[in-house]
Amino acid sequence: VTQSKRKIVIVGGGITGLAAAYRAQEKINTEQLDAEITIVEANHRLGGKIQTVVQDGFVIERGPDSFLERKKSMGRLITDVGMEEKLVPNATGQAFILVNDKLHPMPGGAIMGIPTQIRPFMLTDLISLTGKLRAAGDFVLPKSNRQDDQSLGTFFRRRLGNEVVENLIEPLLSGIYAGDIDQISLQSTFPQYGKLEQEHRSLIAGMKKTSPAANRKPGEKKKSMFLTLSTGLESLVETLETRLSDCDILKGTRVESISCGDRYQLSLNSGAVIEADSVIFTVPHFTAGSVFSDSGLLEQIEHIPATSVATVAMAFDQEEVENILDGTGFVVSRNSDYTITACTWTDRKWPHTTPEGKVLLRCYVGRAGDETVVDLSDDQIEKIVLDDLNKIIKVKSKPDFTIVTRWKKAMPQYTVGHRERLAAVRTELEKNYPGVYLAGASYDGIGLPDCIDQGEAAAYKALNYITQ
Ligand code: FAD
Repeated sequence: VTQSKRKIVIVGGGITGLAAAYRAQEKINTEQLDAEITIVEANHRLGGKIQTVVQDGFVIERGPDSFLERKKSMGRLITDVGMEEKLVPNATGQAFILVNDKLHPMPGGAIMGIPTQIRPFMLTDLISLTGKLRAAGDFVLPKSNRQDDQSLGTFFRRRLGNEVVENLIEPLLSGIYAGDIDQISLQSTFPQYGKLEQEHRSLIAGMKKTSPAANRKPGEKKKSMFLTLSTGLESLVETLETRLSDCDILKGTRVESISCGDRYQLSLNSGAVIEADSVIFTVPHFTAGSVFSDSGLLEQIEHIPATSVATVAMAFDQEEVENILDGTGFVVSRNSDYTITACTWTDRKWPHTTPEGKVLLRCYVGRAGDETVVDLSDDQIEKIVLDDLNKIIKVKSKPDFTIVTRWKKAMPQYTVGHRERLAAVRTELEKNYPGVYLAGASYDGIGLPDCIDQGEAAAYKALNYITQ
């Protein structure tokens, strides 16, 4: 009897699934393993949240637009597929925070909103004198001895006070998670800050000792922290797709349920069933939850809240937009009476994206507790965004074009206790479905490099499992 090849099925062809497939294929080839890979993707295209529109000389990202250089896995993947020469760093410039209807420059030395330089922090009008004195309490307050998880809000309020949290930290963090800082877990998002407190007691002093950015001299140029691809992030997806020549890729196909016999059986929306020896689920947690609904195994995580947002990219002639402060964009504090939550002057931050003589603005709407705006029509969203922008800058005409992209339930919120709940689910999964893994934005980090790390780790686990 000929034994058929051992098979890994990767469910979901976003960046997590693609990274998993790429690394698994690489290892199968270099070690000549008797294994094969199938990717099942619900959509008619790969890439998931990565989606680029190239139009009239613009390169417009509908979803993610860049990644943190410091987290190495994405740069490595890009280099390994031969796209290194397409990497571009962001142009640096002043960023602003909108508080009380006014744009305030981000004080120098603020890292994730945490002040690390005294002079610029004392000079900013973003925080009252009382708020500044309260923040200085960080130097004398004892460290907390709590061992359990806590919200980012609880942690930062205790160290730095409410005002710094509301006017500096919250707007920046919700720019990343579109979430509620008082619900989001410290342990699952920024455990390093908890460690700093434990090791140095003062968060500010700890940052000064450990972060190069906290020790930048006045006037020294900011270093760029982000990278993207000059051809758009979707060009990575396209390259990966051509490189995955040994993988079977089923597009427009949904996995609906899983059952186990000799091998795993995955039922597809077409009515067909495919078999697998190992399965990597890279779909959002609520989808994974429904695939496992018969067993109830994912109950603890399938209700992780996920926020809906929309990105709104608008192109103008340079003459049509006035009063643009000299900077790269702003985030909006949740106490402000605005619907937009952030706006990037994309042509400044990423000059390659915009033709000469044009301006490209990219705004966000939708945040935890304020998501209904995402359901409005494109025209309504455009109007709301333009009205908001006109309170700050002068936009003299309608945009040449606007691209609204809705992302429903796209930003998973790692709430307090996330890590323990996830660990419990993984333990049960391993007992009941050995060789089945969960990876991707819903679990151990939402940034693109975090997703790649998870995809790669899952690929190696799956290969170990099927070859053991
Ligand atoms: P996804 O991209 O969601 O991929 C999952 C795939 O599974 C999808 O293709 C989906 O169609 C498929 N699928 C779903 N159900 C099924 C099923 N039943 N069967 C088969 N397939 C299925 N990160 C950064 O690092 N930098 C940024 O600038 C940044 N900006 C962002 C901006 C926005 C608007 C959003 C929404 C996210 C942003 N992120 C950013 C986060 C990052 O883009 C995502 O976390 C990441 O792309 C998620 O990748 P993934 O592969 O885990 O999931």
